[in-house]
Amino acid sequence: MIYEGDVYRPPSEADSLIIQLTIGCARNTCTFCGMYKRKQFRVRQLDEVIEDLHYVKKYYPYHFDRVFLADGDALIVKTPDIITILDKIYEIFPQCRRVTTYGAAKDVLMKSHEELCELRRHGLEMVYIGAESGSDKVLVDIDKRVTAAETIEACQKLKAAGIKVSMTLITGIGGRPDTKEHAIESAKLVTATKPEYLGLLTLHLEPDTPLTKDYMAGKFQMLTPYEYLQEQKLFLENVDSEGTVLRSNHASNYVALAGTLNRDREKMIAQLEFALKHGSLKSERYRRL
Ligand code: SF4
Repeated sequence: MIYEGDVYRPPSEADSLIIQLTIGCARNTCTFCGMYKRKQFRVRQLDEVIEDLHYVKKYYPYHFDRVFLADGDALIVKTPDIITILDKIYEIFPQCRRVTTYGAAKDVLMKSHEELCELRRHGLEMVYIGAESGSDKVLVDIDKRVTAAETIEACQKLKAAGIKVSMTLITGIGGRPDTKEHAIESAKLVTATKPEYLGLLTLHLEPDTPLTKDYMAGKFQMLTPYEYLQEQKLFLENVDSEGTVLRSNHASNYVALAGTLNRDREKMIAQLEFALKHGSLKSERYRRL
């Protein structure tokens, strides 16, 4: 099996078998994202994907119990085709306990409640939603082509079908002028959706992206490391999402937070205050997206 181009997965899928159901991202517009800019989007032939599964089974002695469907938004694939792949995964890897994927909110909204329930029944356990921000202004600025209301509806639809939601937000994505708006509106988004998991990333400029070009041209003002922490603190002070497991252990972050909302909110705020006061931030050398 040969992966096509660079392959990305969430940090929590480090031990998962990654299977490319699609190549690239169907949208590919987000100004900060360089992940799939060199790939032409396409849905792979199902027999190619099934061949990959057999290849892994035959040549890799490791017994994968988790599978992650890549690339950027595998939920765009027709529901019966996803079900075919889910069934094959559980047939070929009977020890498999969960299958997850990235999903765009608009792709979730294209599917009916019944389709999502079928996906859950066939073993789709969780969808990673890259919300990035709860601010519609920021979402327009970064050309995400989705509104906060659409993301809320998509998350509620997934949860109604029994599919867990893991959401990511990017600290600093609004730049300096919108730092407060981004923090507060993102807190409202999380409060409205109450995802099972929430990952906080920190903006890291990728080469050759529109956002990096804007930064180089002086059109985008990055936050300082301290301002990133202040933004995360403001977010935490405003969020109300009982039971959400929060992690900011991604390499891009200056301070690694880990806790369950709302129980550990004050502890995580205190951790940020401590870092702000004592300057205990991760070195730039160890940061990347
Ligand atoms: S952030 Fe997600 S939706 Fe946006 S271009 Fe990257 S992969 Fe595609």
